[in-house]
Amino acid sequence: MILVVGGAGYIGSHLVKELVKSEKVIILDNFSTGFRSLIDSNAILIEGNLGDEKVLSHIFSNYAIQAVMHFAANSLVGESVQNPYKYYENNVCATVTLLNTMLKYNIKNFIFSSTAATYGIPKVEFIDEDQPTSPINPYGRSKLMVENILEDFSKAYGLNYIVLRYFNAAGAHESGEIGESHNPETHLIPIILQHLLGQREKISVFGTDYATPDGTCIRDYIHVTDLAEAHIKALYALIDGKKQTGVYNLGNGKGYSVKEVIETCEKVTGKSANIEYANRRPGDPAHLIASSAKIYKELGWKAERNLEQIIESAWKWHQKMVAIHDKN
Ligand code: UDP
Repeated sequence: MILVVGGAGYIGSHLVKELVKSEKVIILDNFSTGFRSLIDSNAILIEGNLGDEKVLSHIFSNYAIQAVMHFAANSLVGESVQNPYKYYENNVCATVTLLNTMLKYNIKNFIFSSTAATYGIPKVEFIDEDQPTSPINPYGRSKLMVENILEDFSKAYGLNYIVLRYFNAAGAHESGEIGESHNPETHLIPIILQHLLGQREKISVFGTDYATPDGTCIRDYIHVTDLAEAHIKALYALIDGKKQTGVYNLGNGKGYSVKEVIETCEKVTGKSANIEYANRRPGDPAHLIASSAKIYKELGWKAERNLEQIIESAWKWHQKMVAIHDKN
């Protein structure tokens, strides 16, 4: 049995949808940013906080948990700058309680959602895991702190862990049943698609003077189902004893500028966007592109879905959301 903390969130829910095919799953979620509609009916749901030792002890003493997968973090860079306490309290302190309680019950396998934000402003075009980590905001720092804690806990207490550093997760499940929902929405692809559905007046492009070919920021977009599949490979690498520890990037290895993403959305949807060129958003590096060679070599995973497929799946989901909204 696998405990998925944050299984009602965007990435956690997509992982659960794949994982229930092969494992019994318990979700722990407090619905602070997750949604009940994303919960998979094949999973057991426990409502509670990941830093609540009582809830964790209840789970660990009642179910034979083989591994914990942790998706329950706050992840907005701007908010982390405004309210760092929230980020250190939830992303770091609560995670330490989770780890400590796991160890009390002798549960030693842990998969951790980390981020490309741990690299800060990269010095190279393709970022591999040997690049220095130097996050530039509290969100990235909170994730790196947990990575360091995992290293120490592994050495001291024999914890096995895999850290997965996501680049830009996007897209929706092929079934059209679940997809990306954030409130407020800050991510580029959902914002463009909401605009193309008439829910937003325009798209603001944040910065046109970056040192990139068209002046807009370049990111590496990875389909959320590709991410889910990487987690499952990582999980079995721990459970089967193939790996004790590991840190891997998860990306497509291909970068797209904000302008290119808008153009691809226009192509997929057949609609044209109203674009406003705005100032840079603070804290945005010009380009973030992953080298995912390490995880391919060690765990045999690579991204299978390209930007068009990401946008097609997201478009299907966003159209469905509008239909549900209109019906209600
Ligand atoms: N972006 C933009 N307009 C928006 C939202 C995002 O130009 O309304 C840009 C943002 O500055 C970044 C890229 O799109 O360069 C991806 O941003 P997102 O928030 O989706 O992901 P991040 O890279 O911050 O994790």
